[in-house]
Amino acid sequence: MDARGAVQLSTGDLFRAHIVQGTDLGKLAQSYMSKGQYVPDEVTVNMVRARLGEIPTTTRIIFDGFPRTVAQAEQLAGLLKERGRRLGGVLVLDVPREELLARLTKRAQVEGRPDDTPEVIGKRLDVYEQQTRPVIEHYEKQGLLRRISGTGTIEDIAKRLVAAAEVPVTG
Ligand code: AMP
Repeated sequence: MDARGAVQLSTGDLFRAHIVQGTDLGKLAQSYMSKGQYVPDEVTVNMVRARLGEIPTTTRIIFDGFPRTVAQAEQLAGLLKERGRRLGGVLVLDVPREELLARLTKRAQVEGRPDDTPEVIGKRLDVYEQQTRPVIEHYEKQGLLRRISGTGTIEDIAKRLVAAAEVPVTG
């Protein structure tokens, strides 16, 4: 895994772009996002498939916020295989729940993201525990997982991420 020259593929950003453009997908996504729920796997994976088709297969990709369910992880494996790609590794940022709550509450004040209200934040963290925690185990079994401490300054965390992305996976 090497972060240099990579393209970021953030499903949250893609959904937000659809919402701004007022597309049908945006309207559908918003109905889930506003409640702190995940957008259905099929919708999410189809959007990722479309975006993947726009990125040359020689360009590295950093997925951000995807896959968030085991079903998404399984379907991602198929999508990558179809395009002759391989998953170089999976980075997990460990941050205590209290700190996440504090950060998201602060982001709500700064950026005004509609899904950063206290109610929706709590729901998002619960959904993460139920649906995304198992994804960590899924990749751990495959020897692809790297855990990084997500506490400290943004600069410290960024350094840890870059360093972790540069170590080859031996799984
Ligand atoms: P994020 O910007 O990654 O925090 O995502 C914001 C919201 O978009 C999430 O709370 C979900 O409602 C939706 N979302 C983003 N990525 C995914 C995904 N991989 N699967 C399902 N829903 C997603």
